[in-house]
Amino acid sequence: RLRFFGAVKLGRDFTAAELASRHDAVIYAVGCESDRHMGIPGEDLAGSHSATEFVGWYNGHPDHRDRRFDLSTAAVAVVGVGNVAMDVTRLLACGPEDLAKTDIAAYALDALRKSGVKTVWLLGRRGPAEAAYSPAEIVEIGELADADLVVDPVEATVDEVSKGELSDLAVKKKTDYVQEHAKKGAGTKERKVRLRFLVSPVEITGENGRVSAMRLEKNKLVSDGKGGVKAVGTGVFETIKIGLVLRSVGYRGIPIPGVPFDEKSGHIPHVDGRVVSAPGQPVLPGQYVVGWAKRGPSGLIGTNRADSVLTVQSLLTDHKAGILPISADASLEATLRLLADKKVRALSFADWQKLDVLEKAAGAKAGKIREKFTSVEDMLAALPPK
Ligand code: NAP
Repeated sequence: RLRFFGAVKLGRDFTAAELASRHDAVIYAVGCESDRHMGIPGEDLAGSHSATEFVGWYNGHPDHRDRRFDLSTAAVAVVGVGNVAMDVTRLLACGPEDLAKTDIAAYALDALRKSGVKTVWLLGRRGPAEAAYSPAEIVEIGELADADLVVDPVEATVDEVSKGELSDLAVKKKTDYVQEHAKKGAGTKERKVRLRFLVSPVEITGENGRVSAMRLEKNKLVSDGKGGVKAVGTGVFETIKIGLVLRSVGYRGIPIPGVPFDEKSGHIPHVDGRVVSAPGQPVLPGQYVVGWAKRGPSGLIGTNRADSVLTVQSLLTDHKAGILPISADASLEATLRLLADKKVRALSFADWQKLDVLEKAAGAKAGKIREKFTSVEDMLAALPPK
């Protein structure tokens, strides 16, 4: 009794109230679609983008396919050292032929084939023990066939204030890896991934309105008084020449009309997965939230799976207690009728399967696992008219 509705958007095609009135419960699993900013001068110059846009672009996301990134530049700064930063760095630093068989969008592959990028600066504001990437991700960067991972041995040293973190096995593994790598020097490959620690971008400067350099301040680590470690500036600055900035400093939720949103945290406020109208306010019966929309943008698939279990437990508890609202019309056809009344063309799961077959067939012709549709119009045109 699962029904899939594709190409429909809450807040555009129907309201949250219309959805709620046709279901006994609604679970928002909408993630965090937007990105955080660094809040430094020059962030809005041409050539300064969020990693979200870049990831959306190379993955053929319809909202991002028309974006352009200047890959003729010799050097790129990726700000942040989380797993998203690793993803974009890998894309920029690996040889295009490694990507040719993946489901990367064809236009992105073309652009990457012509790329002039020789240096990717990966900029971490704290030390190697605080880096947010997973051990496997940094190892992948270190093993790229076409690029050397270059680390300054001094910056790779674990600061006194961070030593306690090494009791965590994953942290130990990550720091050991970069320290070993630091001993290898700059290597001989044409491309370099220069992983930096203890530096914060303080300004992006431009020439003719485009990014041309980034000013970095050297940091030192101090205790944050809560058991953690924070970076503070030392007043020592350096400048790196770059032509493109990809900020990868975390995601943020986007408010959906009619759905509560906490501006401060950037996600949907809740108690144990039950949506509340605002932090500290009462629960809205029948409304639930999971994943990044619930906790913010952190954690891998396993974290989100466990998190979903907790939300579903809350829902089942409420169902057993008989406190779910009684919907006006919770029949299986109700949403179908709503969309038809509003003249919204919703795709069915059978439609999804047809698109899947078409994408795989197009991919096979190009020697790829899949060639994705990158516009909703093209998807609709490829399906028989309704
Ligand atoms: P993230 O893991 O939160 O990393 C954000 C990075 O940005 C951190 O290094 C953070 O440093 C830094 N940062 C934040 N504000 C900054 C500022 N103003 N200036 C400089 N640096 C700043 O976020 P993410 O990379 O977007 O990833 C989101 C989630 O998706 C993570 O849980 C990640 O593991 C997951 N993910 C996983 C994969 C995978 O498994 N392959 C791929 C993609 C994403 P501080 O630590 O100092 O705050």
